[in-house]
Amino acid sequence: MKALLLIDIQNDFLPGGRLAVPEGDAIIPLVNELQLQFELVVATQDWHPTGHESFASSHAGRQVFEQIDLHGLPQVLWPDHCTQAGPGAELAPALRTSASRPFFAKALP
Ligand SMILES: [Zn+2]
Repeated sequence: MKALLLIDIQNDFLPGGRLAVPEGDAIIPLVNELQLQFELVVATQDWHPTGHESFASSHAGRQVFEQIDLHGLPQVLWPDHCTQAGPGAELAPALRTSASRPFFAKALP
């Protein structure tokens, strides 16, 4: 079986999102076309609870993109993004998610 993995194609990572990749939406038409060539398509979603430790807003006096030591490991502090059940965590509306093809979302803590 051939599988296509779609990693975190979510509103917050697209132009206008809280942690946008410039022109990140440019891949969506290609991704939609590629899906037709695979038996299995799996989509992941970055999926954080509010107040996640990787968010700068969870650390008083810290700035977005600052690096801190978190539990003994380096951690870049991100803007709040992909919070569970928020619109930023939703898959891009233009992404093909046809019910006729297997399509799964994986929540990552
Ligand atoms: Zn994240």
